[in-house]
Amino acid sequence: DLDHSSVDDLGNISVVVRVRPLSEREIQRNDDTIIQVISHEQIMMRPDVRANGQSAITGSQSTFNQTLTAKSFTFNAVFDQTASQSEMMDKSGVARIIAMAIEGYSTTVFCYGQTGSGKTHTLTGPPHLFQDQPDPFSEEHGLIYRAFVHLFDRLKEKSKSDCTYIIKASFLEIYNEKVIDLLNLSTFKKPLQVRWSRVAGGFYVENLFTVECEEFDDLLAVLEEGMKNRAVGSHGMNDYSSRSHTILTVHVISELQASEEGVYLSRHGKINFVDLAGSEMTKKTNSQGKTLEEANNINKSLMVLGYCISQLSDPRKRNGHIPYRDSKLTQLLSDSLAGNGVTLMVACVSPARSNLSETLNTLRYAARAK
Ligand code: ADP
Ligand code: MG
Repeated sequence: DLDHSSVDDLGNISVVVRVRPLSEREIQRNDDTIIQVISHEQIMMRPDVRANGQSAITGSQSTFNQTLTAKSFTFNAVFDQTASQSEMMDKSGVARIIAMAIEGYSTTVFCYGQTGSGKTHTLTGPPHLFQDQPDPFSEEHGLIYRAFVHLFDRLKEKSKSDCTYIIKASFLEIYNEKVIDLLNLSTFKKPLQVRWSRVAGGFYVENLFTVECEEFDDLLAVLEEGMKNRAVGSHGMNDYSSRSHTILTVHVISELQASEEGVYLSRHGKINFVDLAGSEMTKKTNSQGKTLEEANNINKSLMVLGYCISQLSDPRKRNGHIPYRDSKLTQLLSDSLAGNGVTLMVACVSPARSNLSETLNTLRYAARAK
């Protein structure tokens, strides 16, 4: 029922939600769960009811406090706190994204949500996985690792045909509207430029290091190297990861021998795996006494992304002007957001009452994207 293999009956942006478990700290503080997953597609916020079944509404609040009203939302799929990493891989639609990329489409998988909601966990899994030699059989591997496995499995099946495939990968970060190459530490001091290619009809990052990957281990090395460099380049800055966006891109270039005479058709698809800055950044930066430019830059990409997506999901506006050019992130994702691309949004939320307003913001943002 959650099989997303059929491409045509879905729009080009699909949205799933993942609820993480309560953390140890939240449990110790007696925080309670205000999220109920009602079905494979429906999620409900019940801030009006406490986990012990009692009403959370006291007399005067009932009329004034709108945030205590129950609300329900529908998405392409919803995953509760018990969902495993492999379930995310199997039922979120990532396999469809990979199939489309092999076909030559530009695709994106991005995780959206407040800091601590599970974005990095969903994409890469817990950091200890990469401290030594990664255990290939770990249950904790995230979508990226699983997608790499799936991609090479699919290509092995297909290599029996007349098609040859070339895989390349790059890994970058956008911090303060500056593009940093996570495979090249010197770019932390000297950021790269985003340019428009008239020939390719798309945006690209000038001088970005792109690695040819013949096998799975080569792709894994890109992921590991980028994660390592990010930790070094950020100098352990406290909230660095909540302020920056990372994009790991896997290019799938295929050459098909179309006829006996040896006419080759070449197709170029790609998958962007995007770990976004914490969604709380859109508000926080305005109130932290940053210079205007700094404040604007930190949240600009997130705000413009939200704006582009809501325009694209409105049938009356979809064919109008979409302001991709207004941020680095939307420039780089434009081909997968636009009509001929495919995007999967994974909205990550905390179930805790203490995160109520951010969770509501995330669910609203996600609901707008459908
Ligand atoms: P984000 O990247 O959104 O800031 P993280 O992925 O770092 O959030 O998650 C915050 C914490 O919650 C981490 O310790 C992570 O291991 C844990 N966590 C997140 N999602 C899950 C989950 N589905 N199951 C178990 N632990 C999770
Ligand atoms: Mg993170």
